[in-house]
Amino acid sequence: MLDATVTLTGTGTPLPVPGRAGPGTLVRCGPLAAQVDAGRGTVLRLAELGLDCPEVGLLALTHHHSDHLVGVADLVLTRWVQGGFTPLPVLAPEGPAARFARHVLDIWADDIAVRRHHTGRPALPALDVRAFEAPAAPAVVWRSESVEVSAVAVRHEPVEPAVAYRFDTPSGAVVISGDTRVCDEVEELARGAQVLVHEACRGDAVRSRGKRFIADYHADTVELGAMAERAGVATLVLTHLEPAPRSPEEAAAFAAEVRRGGFGGRLIVGEDRATISVSREGHPAQEG
Ligand SMILES: [Zn+2]
Ligand SMILES: [Zn+2]
Repeated sequence: MLDATVTLTGTGTPLPVPGRAGPGTLVRCGPLAAQVDAGRGTVLRLAELGLDCPEVGLLALTHHHSDHLVGVADLVLTRWVQGGFTPLPVLAPEGPAARFARHVLDIWADDIAVRRHHTGRPALPALDVRAFEAPAAPAVVWRSESVEVSAVAVRHEPVEPAVAYRFDTPSGAVVISGDTRVCDEVEELARGAQVLVHEACRGDAVRSRGKRFIADYHADTVELGAMAERAGVATLVLTHLEPAPRSPEEAAAFAAEVRRGGFGGRLIVGEDRATISVSREGHPAQEG
């Protein structure tokens, strides 16, 4: 069996916080390394994980908020500099995120031209954008020999479209929420998943700091705990932490609120580079 792992390449938000790169998650299964979103510092995190950018075989974008995209050009250009000359397949919902991917290299044209001339590189850096209409119900958007990727539209209004992804691997399913309120769509996508990587927002804490607009379109921790329990996920991993915990106590508050919501499975408050192996062992779906 091919072992699969999930690694958080960044657990941050638009606000820079020491030790937390911008949003991103790496799913690895056999020869496939798939990066979901590429926020600030993604390439450095991949290097810290021992992964060269040409090894990334798929990039999946969830939506067009800058915190999820500012590392895309860095990833694609560094991939090229490191010798990756085949176009990088990029999944994106049709609309602003796909448009961004189609044009992300435009402003780098002069740099690309001079590097190519100077080094004699055999090809230009390129993205192979495979846009899809954000589906209202989970639908398959990409397949490799061993991994099937599904997507569903999520609830991050007014940012539309925004999607979540599910990677079905031989050792189990991994779901990555992207940015969303707690919603039925992710619950359906995550049903029976071994690992759910979900954004998390301590709504009361955010509102008490006068940032109601943040809580309005992110996932409340208590509601998330209830949803993950209903979906029957084995391991819930919190990322995109809002407000970013700056102490063990603040991290523990995320966990306490998710537990208050009723989640009884394995719970991880995300840190950058945390790696979770995907396994069906011990999952309730295997016991019944
Ligand atoms: Zn975000
Ligand atoms: Zn967002």
